[in-house]
Amino acid sequence: MQTKLLYLYDSYLREFEAEVVKIEENKVILNQTAFHPLTGGVANDTGYLLKDNEKYRVIDVKLNKETGEVIHIIDGEVKLKPGDKVKGVIDWDRRYRLMKLHTAAHLIAAVLYRDYNALITGGHVDVEKAKEDFNLEKPDRRIFEDAVRKANEAVKNKLPVKIYFLTREEAMKIPGIVKLAERMPPEVKKLRIVEIEGVDIQADGGPHVKNTEEIGEIKLLKIENKGRTKRRIYFTI
Ligand SMILES: [Zn+2]
Repeated sequence: MQTKLLYLYDSYLREFEAEVVKIEENKVILNQTAFHPLTGGVANDTGYLLKDNEKYRVIDVKLNKETGEVIHIIDGEVKLKPGDKVKGVIDWDRRYRLMKLHTAAHLIAAVLYRDYNALITGGHVDVEKAKEDFNLEKPDRRIFEDAVRKANEAVKNKLPVKIYFLTREEAMKIPGIVKLAERMPPEVKKLRIVEIEGVDIQADGGPHVKNTEEIGEIKLLKIENKGRTKRRIYFTI
């Protein structure tokens, strides 16, 4: 059974109630969860599942792409059984950093595409830092420095980050996300849109901050040469 993903509707949800659907050794599957699994290039959450006096540490969260189940991996023995009601609590400091770095990653990719035609080819947001791979005809360190400077301007400008759902037909009318919408499998009827006002609009499934000012400041850490036209940048906040 597909787990209902509560974080899609509220990135700021830190606690939630859920029912245990399935237990496999130390793996717990719930009917709904606010825990974000490792997916979409963003690291997983950690936290706790609580039932009465029992406290279970969630050390890893994975998504089963075939079933849509979110798997909470517990450190130690699990005495829960299907039908049990539990409370989930996510480690907020970790999640909030992931949200800030994720929105920062969207800003940098949007600026690089807009001003330098750079295409993002991959990326990963972790707690300490994020990395993104770009394809650029003439990659130059100054381009990335300029992109980070402009992304920081967007942070200072306190831009709202809006999350909403559109039908495929509605989404296709928006210039820029047409390509992404086309890539979505046809069974996906509703697309989750993440819009950083005036800068970026994407179909995206991960948690984000509500306003760019929450990011604070983006710092470029390092640029790695990954080929003639490929560069990997590392940054933090
Ligand atoms: Zn994203």
